[in-house]
Parts: sequence; structure tokens; C-alpha cells
Amino acid sequence: MAKCKLIDFAHYSSIKIGPRVEVLVVEMGDEIPKDHFLIGGANNLLVSDNPPPLMMLGKSYDFIKIEEGSIIAGCALKSGRLLSFAKKNDIAGFEFVAKLPGTLGGMLAMNAGVKSYEIFPLVESIEIDGTWRDLKEIEHGYRFANLGGVATRVKLRLEHGYNDALRSELLALRDNQPHEPSAGSAFKNPEGDYAGRLIEAVGLKGKRIGNMAWSQMHANFLINLGGGSYQEAQELIDLAKSEVEAKFGVLLKEEIKIV
Ligand SMILES: Cc1cc2nc3c(=O)[nH]c(=O)nc-3n(C[C@H](O)[C@H](O)[C@H](O)COP(=O)(O)OP(=O)(O)OC[C@H]3O[C@@H](n4cnc5c(N)ncnc54)[C@H](O)[C@@H]3O)c2cc1C
Repeated sequence: MAKCKLIDFAHYSSIKIGPRVEVLVVEMGDEIPKDHFLIGGANNLLVSDNPPPLMMLGKSYDFIKIEEGSIIAGCALKSGRLLSFAKKNDIAGFEFVAKLPGTLGGMLAMNAGVKSYEIFPLVESIEIDGTWRDLKEIEHGYRFANLGGVATRVKLRLEHGYNDALRSELLALRDNQPHEPSAGSAFKNPEGDYAGRLIEAVGLKGKRIGNMAWSQMHANFLINLGGGSYQEAQELIDLAKSEVEAKFGVLLKEEIKIV
């Protein structure tokens, strides 16, 4: 029988917002319920005061190993462990996950990446709701993947040649990233433009509502100045969407998931 864990999203989530709720922990062999929303590390998540029933993958899905010429990992594995495994075993391709917080499952669901580097080109197949699916069967694009279920394990490409210089180069891109709690970029970049540029152009860079604000450092980061609430975050998101649409006719799409 799956167990529950009490999670305080004001601590657990990277944006430090949300209630204390019981989250169902799914281990290998457990049936995966269909009526629960799956969370990973909550680094791209804004949890409302009244979320739907939540679940997460447990420790049995937190592993990584090399098997038959591929990397096999559980989707509860954190990005930091993925990077250190790649470094230790001289594996290429994962340098971009440095300081990209999340679990492998969350990274797959978001097709997480930096510049032209993203997780999907490194994927061979993903176990979704108990069935292994080839990469070609899974629709994916910029910060998007249609997994259609719960990713539990993944087979990743094993190519040697860890590149520490590339890791440092990509880390340097994070110099303009705010240090306050956030959920990363709030909106996806619209085709041919940048969400941050548009938010700045409508005069919302630095705009504060209560204890939440659009960052002065990077306008597409919604930051928590301490004790910020879900309502304040949602108001700032709605404001940016309506102002940008009114001025530029561009409908910004949330990158963060709101539950
Ligand atoms: C400071 C900071 C910097 C960031 N920088 C970047 C960046 O450079 N590039 C980038 O792409 N992102 C970035 N992000 C966003 C975040 O790191 C990524 O989206 C990450 O992949 C989220 O992983 P998570 O485990 O925290 O997922 P969560 O936030 O918990 O969940 C995100 C989505 O993934 C789904 N999900 C989680 N696990 C699974 C699973 N096993 N199967 C199916 N669906 C699943 C959830 O249902 C949800 O829809 C940043 C975030 C922060 C806070």
C-alpha cells in the first residue's frame, strides 16, 4: 500500500509558496492512481491553497546505473546526482543540468534545457505508466513534452566525454538569475522573442504586489520576497499576460505549472 508524506510547500517548493498537504508516495510495484497530480521537486510549480490530490515518486525511483550500454535512471533522481554521475563516469551531454533544479521526471515532462541543450536529445526511451516508449513515440518541443502519464524510469544515451568547460560556460549564463526564491522562468519565450523583454517593455520589471514581484534582475522571474502568497503570484501572472497582450498582441504562456 502506498504511503503518504506531509509536505509543506512553503518549504519544499522552490518558490516557497503553498499549503501543508499529504502527498501520496508511489514506490516501484505500487499502482499509480489516475486521479492524483504528480509532483517532482516542485521547482517549476506554483501550488494553490487548495490543490488537487498530489502524489510523488518514492526512493525506489531514485537511482542511476549503467546497463547494456545505456544509462538507466529512476525519475525521482535529482539533477545534481545526474550531473555528478556524468562527471564521475566521464559521460557527455548532461553538463547543462548544472544548477537546473529538478527530478529527472520533472525534467522530462518540461523537456528542461538551457539554450540549445535539452534533455530529450539524450533520451532513448521512457517508461510511462509501466510501458517503455521509444523517444519517437513521444511528442515534444521547446519546454514541452506530452508524456501522457507518469514517467517512472528512463534510458539515456551513454556517450563518453564529460565537458567541464561547457558546464562552466552554461553556469555563467545564470549570472543574471535572481537569488530570491522563484520557480524559474514564469513564461515560455514566445516564438522569436523573450518573455522577459516583453514584461520589461510593459513596465512590469520590478513590479511588486504584496510580497511577490517580477524580478529587477530578470523580468521573467516571479520572485518571493518573503512570505509571498499564491494570490499575489497569480495576480502578477495575470497582470503580465493582460498588459503584454494589450500592448503587443502576444499571449504569454505559463512555463510554470499551477495546481
Ligand atoms: C532557480 C531556477 C532555475 C531554473 N532554470 C531552469 C532552466 O535553466 N531550464 C529549464 O528548463 N528549467 C529551469 N527551471 C525550472 C525547473 O528546474 C525545471 O522545469 C525542472 O525540470 C522541474 O523539475 P521538478 O522535478 O522540480 O518538477 P515539478 O516542478 O515538480 O513538476 C513540473 C511538471 O513536471 C511534471 N512531472 C514531474 N515528475 C514527473 C514524472 N515523473 N512523470 C511525468 N510528469 C512529471 C509535473 O506533473 C509538472 O507538470 C528552473 C527553476 C528554478 C527554481
